[in-house]
Amino acid sequence: MTKSIRVRYAPSPTGLLHIGNARTALFNYLYARHHGGTFLIRIEDTDRKRHVEDGERSQMENLRWLGIDWDESPETHEQYRQSERLEIYQQYVHELLEKGLAYKSYVTEEELAAERERQEAAGETPRYINEYLGMSDEEKAAYVAEREAAGIIPTVRLAVNEAGIYKWNDMVKGEIEFEGGNIGGDWVIQKKDGYPTYNFAVVIDDHLMEISHVIRGDDHIANTPKQLMVYEALGWEAPEFGHMTLIINSETGKKLSKRDTNTLQFIEDYRKKGYLPEAVFNFIALLGWNPGGEHEIFSREELIELFDEHRLSKSPAAFDQKKLDWMSNEYIKNADFATIFDMAKPFLEAAGRLTDKAEKLVELYKPQMKAVDEIVPLTDLFFEDFPALTEAEKEVMAGETVPTVLSAFKEKLEAMTEEDFKSENIFPQIKAVQKETGIKGKNLFMPIRIAVSGEMHGPELPDTIYLLGREKSIQHLDNMLKEIEKS
Ligand code: GLU
Repeated sequence: MTKSIRVRYAPSPTGLLHIGNARTALFNYLYARHHGGTFLIRIEDTDRKRHVEDGERSQMENLRWLGIDWDESPETHEQYRQSERLEIYQQYVHELLEKGLAYKSYVTEEELAAERERQEAAGETPRYINEYLGMSDEEKAAYVAEREAAGIIPTVRLAVNEAGIYKWNDMVKGEIEFEGGNIGGDWVIQKKDGYPTYNFAVVIDDHLMEISHVIRGDDHIANTPKQLMVYEALGWEAPEFGHMTLIINSETGKKLSKRDTNTLQFIEDYRKKGYLPEAVFNFIALLGWNPGGEHEIFSREELIELFDEHRLSKSPAAFDQKKLDWMSNEYIKNADFATIFDMAKPFLEAAGRLTDKAEKLVELYKPQMKAVDEIVPLTDLFFEDFPALTEAEKEVMAGETVPTVLSAFKEKLEAMTEEDFKSENIFPQIKAVQKETGIKGKNLFMPIRIAVSGEMHGPELPDTIYLLGREKSIQHLDNMLKEIEKS
């Protein structure tokens, strides 16, 4: 009988939801949903120093925003936070102490630091050397008594089987093997403050929560042999492990780092900028995985259906901002208008631009936006001063026939009544200029567009002119004609 599939996302609430962690959550989610398994969230909050107030709420809120749901979590289940499970860990620490598979360690921080320095100076790989080494039973007892009397609180270390071989068949990377002697010596399973270390607690939890597959980032590979040692010491069967490749920033070629301040990396940032969650979900799902083929736009349901752990990539995943922008634009283009307008409202409102033209403006720029917050800079023309021209634009405006086109079009607009002034009536006026002057194509449209909007590219020209208004359009044409005369 195959074990039922239970996977988990186990964040440490040490900060906002980063794209790397979101990917871990998302792949576990896809894996569980594809196989009809269970997906749970466990909070690993034993590192009190790195604890961030609100970290847990922010994790859950952002996962929900992405469209991820779960079957078990601290919201519905007791003791799904490690800080609530201390007694459980202590019970297993006790068991290992009893069996002689772990021991109390009284070595101090200073002693450890001094030893590390010595090892480094001697060119040795830093490792903990058993402090009881070479002591007789009496000496051991005296050592412990002396340290206890001095008020030294011990940690608990696992007695590592140095000759052991710790290996697993990784779901992503294949066979991986570590020698017990190569992991830095007997390691701490319980800290002085009574809290377990991550590598210990994670095993107890994964076992008790009957986790079948541990899917996480490959920064955890070196932890896995330590965890296997705990499974061995407690006589438990280990789950399957899958370590996903790291994410590199395609711009720098280096590991995606929180220090790459130009790259948005926190789910919260995408949300605040007005990305659609479906787009971000789709983008993350393709970081280190793809279903094969050229197609890249997939709904959540399709991804669940297609997900195949055998296709998790062995080579690093490239975080490509341009691809994200492209994908996000695809989603915005195809989203229904009401959704995008609702998202745009707060941005327009904050900029004082939620006027009666707002709907029309959003409609106009929807096909162009990569994130909805762009609605503000995109509509500058309608609310701000005329933008300065670029060199390329100036070059167009230096064209011989430009004044003819602009004057003719200006006259047409002047001849229109306010009532006639509608999007659909503007195009015929441009055509009329063509007929009158014999100037057509780029030479006709480009100067008008630049003179009116200050930009070479933009949405439909008649719409732009309409939204700008008759008066303002005439004024822009007039200003441009004067500019040209001067030069
Ligand atoms: N709390 C760990 C982390 O945030 C989870 C590691 C694991 O999945 O085992 O990296």
